[in-house]
Amino acid sequence: MSEIFDERRKALEEEYFRRKEQEALEKLRAKLRDQAAAAQLPPCPKCDGRLIETEFENIKIDQCSRCGGVWLDPGELQQLTAREQEGWFARLWHSLAPERN
Ligand SMILES: [Zn+2]
Repeated sequence: MSEIFDERRKALEEEYFRRKEQEALEKLRAKLRDQAAAAQLPPCPKCDGRLIETEFENIKIDQCSRCGGVWLDPGELQQLTAREQEGWFARLWHSLAPERN
């Protein structure tokens, strides 16, 4: 009888470790994906620091790890301002670039 429990316990342990290994692999893969994405980013135009892709308001922005500068791809600023039509930033953006409206 105790052999059955031993086997059951062993199977549960194996399942546990298999799941842990799977989680560790997933984390590693995600880290490698992030590194590959970062390697494709150009250096910061201002200070040559490394740009790191982060997410702001569901829009991916590139932030410099050295000077903290934020860089937007074409269209991203419009995406951000479009969500906030009444705010000061949208008003500033529209006053600076009226031909874009
Ligand atoms: Zn920089």
